[in-house]
Amino acid sequence: MSGGKDVGGSSGARRSGSTKKNAFCSFCRKSYRDVGPLVEGPGDVYICGECIDLCQSILEQEQRRRTGGRQLFNKIPTPRELVTHLDQYVIGQENSKKVLAVAVHNHYKRLSLGWEGSEVEIEKSNILVVGPTGSGKTLLARTLARALDVPFAIGDATTLTEAGYVGEDVENLLLKLLHAADFDIEAAQRGIIYIDEIDKIGKTSQNVSITRDVSGEGVQQALLKMLEGTVANVPPQGGRKHPEQQYIQIDTSNILFICGGTFVGIDDIIRRRTGRKTMGFGSSAGNHDERDLADLLPQITTDDILEFGLIPELIGRLPVVSTLAPLDEAALVQVLTEPRNSLVKQYKSLFEMENCELHFTEDSLKAVAHLARKRGTGARGLRAILEKVMLDIMYELPDQPGGKYVVTKDVVEGKEKLFKMPETKSA
Ligand code: ADP
Repeated sequence: MSGGKDVGGSSGARRSGSTKKNAFCSFCRKSYRDVGPLVEGPGDVYICGECIDLCQSILEQEQRRRTGGRQLFNKIPTPRELVTHLDQYVIGQENSKKVLAVAVHNHYKRLSLGWEGSEVEIEKSNILVVGPTGSGKTLLARTLARALDVPFAIGDATTLTEAGYVGEDVENLLLKLLHAADFDIEAAQRGIIYIDEIDKIGKTSQNVSITRDVSGEGVQQALLKMLEGTVANVPPQGGRKHPEQQYIQIDTSNILFICGGTFVGIDDIIRRRTGRKTMGFGSSAGNHDERDLADLLPQITTDDILEFGLIPELIGRLPVVSTLAPLDEAALVQVLTEPRNSLVKQYKSLFEMENCELHFTEDSLKAVAHLARKRGTGARGLRAILEKVMLDIMYELPDQPGGKYVVTKDVVEGKEKLFKMPETKSA
């Protein structure tokens, strides 16, 4: 334990002698007669009891702020608690929630118990999340970080380039995390980084565009080092590195990396391996493809990912693999209404602020979900569709507060405008 240092010890502070009757506190300027005994520092400096108390609380506050993350690690949420938290924000994806909760719990448990240096080395388990666009990959990672109250940053593998090329250095991801941690390096070193589109940096991936040649070997090597654990030099201003710059050193060994990708076409690889026939009903009905994908993805193996084109070293550093299913229409309706900050709830609050009531009919929600599914961008499409539907009324609303509005299927499909319901009460 530190602290409990003697007054009058090495700090140079001592009790003010009774000779200096006209001494006053250098902080609040009150006199010795008003505030009682003063502590004297070197060179005619004094501090009173009140100011000492104030300083004490300022320091404690700062300490609490800086060690907030670490204090939390005294009590790491159990996997079940994490899943309960995720359930409030993420619809479906039960298996993935479980896999992530266990991996994340173990990761932080390992840190909190200081097992890093002990004999049984529990390896860091960075996570690979495979699932279609808009199925909740980023949302899961972000929500986990929030549940644990650790800093969180998002990056995109396709924008990462080797130093010197246009794009982002791998180190910039760490800078983002540092920003999220308010420049508290300790906290940043225990944060979570989500890297999207990890499937696009494979050597043989067909998805990578030829103009992106810069995101080749060098980036992969830098990324690999970072995933495994390295002390990286982060330029505090971001951007390009240059020699005269001062760097912030960040150790990445305890940062948890969650990498996500859509791995378009990996279902064919799984299908071929498992000898499953394509479900052919003579039509390309999206429904079947979707269910097919939902059945196939959970059977994914590292061999499939290897065949897809991710380099073995990268796969080796992402030992936990979890898959997300595409969201069907029913799930999309749930996404609209159920999460704590669902779009429908957000719009209702906006209307409440104008003293208005907003309702959505069942059919209207289904229509939004239907449109979103046709776009093929999962839950991502929902917001754009709703925004378009609501634009006119959001423009008008502040000028005509009060009243009740009902969004119907026809409104969503653009056949009707959203208008104020006539008052039902007779005057
Ligand atoms: P991706 O899988 O492409 O990373 P995101 O997690 O970024 O998708 O999802 C985009 C948006 O869609 C999120 O902001 C969220 O509002 C919504 N969303 C996606 N999946 C779900 C889900 N399973 N439950 C609730 N909302 C979701």
